[in-house]
Amino acid sequence: MKKIAFTACFLAAAVFTARAADKIKVASFSTIDTEIVQQIGGDHVDVAGLVKPGVDPHEYEPTPADLRKVNDAQLILTSGKHMENYLNKLQEATGGKADMLQVGDHFSSLKMKPDEGEKSAMREDPHWWHSVSNVKQATKIVRDELIKLDPADKAGFEKNANTYLAKLDELENWVKRKVAELPRDKRKLVTSHDAFQYFARDYGFTIAAIEGISTETEASNKHVSDLIDDIKKQGVKAIFLENTLNPKVTTEITRETGAKIGGTLYPDGLGTGEASTYTGMMKHNVSTIVDALK
Ligand SMILES: [Zn+2]
Repeated sequence: MKKIAFTACFLAAAVFTARAADKIKVASFSTIDTEIVQQIGGDHVDVAGLVKPGVDPHEYEPTPADLRKVNDAQLILTSGKHMENYLNKLQEATGGKADMLQVGDHFSSLKMKPDEGEKSAMREDPHWWHSVSNVKQATKIVRDELIKLDPADKAGFEKNANTYLAKLDELENWVKRKVAELPRDKRKLVTSHDAFQYFARDYGFTIAAIEGISTETEASNKHVSDLIDDIKKQGVKAIFLENTLNPKVTTEITRETGAKIGGTLYPDGLGTGEASTYTGMMKHNVSTIVDALK
């Protein structure tokens, strides 16, 4: 009796192992990439999302446990456009075994001014996902990579990608309709760090950022007083906080200008609650911006 139970148990374990081994193991360093690869890969992928929702990707560093996941993976997904300053660690951890797909590097970049005090020249803006059309491109890039790694499941990946792309089309139409509620001369976006250039390009906004490109630099007094003058002159009605930032400087600006706090935006990827999906995050950001500036 005991022996039979043991055998049954052993068989079940063997079946489970075979199924798990069929899956493509993915390590993802972008919450956006994580959603895309899960939507397209479905049951055929086993995804470790190592940069978690609500985590500031500018400050994230991989832990030893994260690097063990990288060592296990067949595919590494990064945000790209120099968001990750730890690529050498990832390369070391894979030992060249895995494909590394730097998703954002596959479409055109907008440039950023360097942060104050920084000597380097213009650099790429890494916040590409605030353009729905960039996310559609990212979807096609991830789809093609999964097909390359697992050609037998090509039809399934294509079907899932088409379903997700249709959702993105619907989202893009919704964004355009929502933004159209706001006259062009009111499309001025003042946020804590400079994350919304791709959004501004696609949907006709101009932007001013309280800090620079990354969340690591603090705004200088001169920069803040210039910004205060600018907000007063242009009659900007609202400015926006971000979920990964300290709102101290923002409070000073609202006191000086009379602009109100328009709400909190998600600049650096997915969050929790309504912002735990890409569609939810975009709808939150766009509604917050448009409703506060109207
Ligand atoms: Zn950012």
